[in-house]
Amino acid sequence: MKIAVLAGDGIGPEIVAEALKVLALFKSEGLDIETTAADVGGIAVDHHGDPLPEATLKLCQMSDAILFGSIGGPQYDTLPRELRPERGLLRLRKELDLFANLRPARVFPQLSGASTLKPEVVAGLDIMIVRELTGDIYFGHPRGIAVNAAGLRVGTNTMVYDEEEIRRVAHWGFQAARARRRELCSVDKMNVLEATQLWRDVVVEVSAEYPDVKLTHMLVDNAAMQLVRNPKQFDVIVTGNLFGDILSDEASMLTGSIGMLPSASLNAAGLGLFEPIHGSAPDIAGRGIANPLAQILSLAMMFQYSLRRADLAQRVERAVEGVLEQGLRTADIATKGETVSSTSEMGDAVVAALRA
Ligand code: NAD
Repeated sequence: MKIAVLAGDGIGPEIVAEALKVLALFKSEGLDIETTAADVGGIAVDHHGDPLPEATLKLCQMSDAILFGSIGGPQYDTLPRELRPERGLLRLRKELDLFANLRPARVFPQLSGASTLKPEVVAGLDIMIVRELTGDIYFGHPRGIAVNAAGLRVGTNTMVYDEEEIRRVAHWGFQAARARRRELCSVDKMNVLEATQLWRDVVVEVSAEYPDVKLTHMLVDNAAMQLVRNPKQFDVIVTGNLFGDILSDEASMLTGSIGMLPSASLNAAGLGLFEPIHGSAPDIAGRGIANPLAQILSLAMMFQYSLRRADLAQRVERAVEGVLEQGLRTADIATKGETVSSTSEMGDAVVAALRA
């Protein structure tokens, strides 16, 4: 199995180093895995003048999975748009057609007090959001800012989906539900947006292939409200790019820390990019205090979805729960009075838990 490792910028290299300790352990146990590192984001701009160099893209195309850290930093914010680190990641998603974005939002029992919501609302929470990632209003045409006949500036974006784009991500939603509690909630705004009327129609058509999954529909405004009112009513949510962007960030806050949440972005061939949902955290980079657990849990998702080793994914998840149970906390998840561990102490503890 070939893994491309793109650590990126800021805390990316610090937390990827911890995930690689886990991989090294599995390798020592006999797992046949080969990792190759490459530049992406700001570091790639520094070294090659391009946030997604050709060699990095080629490596990713030839790999079974991509372990991605994070990209970006204030020193790149004044570059022309096509040279910005974020452009490298967007291009990678588009080039590899990574259309299905899976974001679990799970509250570990040991951290139910870390959310801004009441513990009884979030304790035991375990949601999966499946977001379409390569279509919708982010990519639709016409787009832009122009001056109309009356001399007024007009901003335009276009929400557009064809039925095949909806169908393929709907399958991911149903399959994710099938592997869990078999409940899928499709989120749209069909009462006012025709593009999402089509979304609903196609999801209903696809549901005929999954009679064992209970399908419900919810309008996005209600879904935003229900996610903070009673988030435990959801099992899997499937939705378009724009609504998924907003709802998945909302769901991440239910869990307390952005440093705990992994994600997977997959294409039809099963190739996936696995990354924490957070960014490069320039405010804490280089200090050895970042939480590496979202990165390590991203590795677990890689085992589950691209490498088809659910057994290893479960081992990693159990080890993470084990270290939380032991009371290990990085600064972002520590409450007052708790001892704070460094990034590498947390990574070492996960490896020790895996060995035990
Ligand atoms: P961020 O997610 O990097 O940080 C937000 C806050 O969360 C910061 O206070 C940070 O210290 C904290 N945080 C994030 N990850 C943490 C971790 N693992 N452990 C402990 N604390 C953590 O968001 P931002 O500050 O808005 O963005 C910083 C840079 O990251 C920007 O350049 C942005 O464009 C980029 N970004 C990249 C990605 C990506 O690589 N996919 C995603 C989002 C933002």
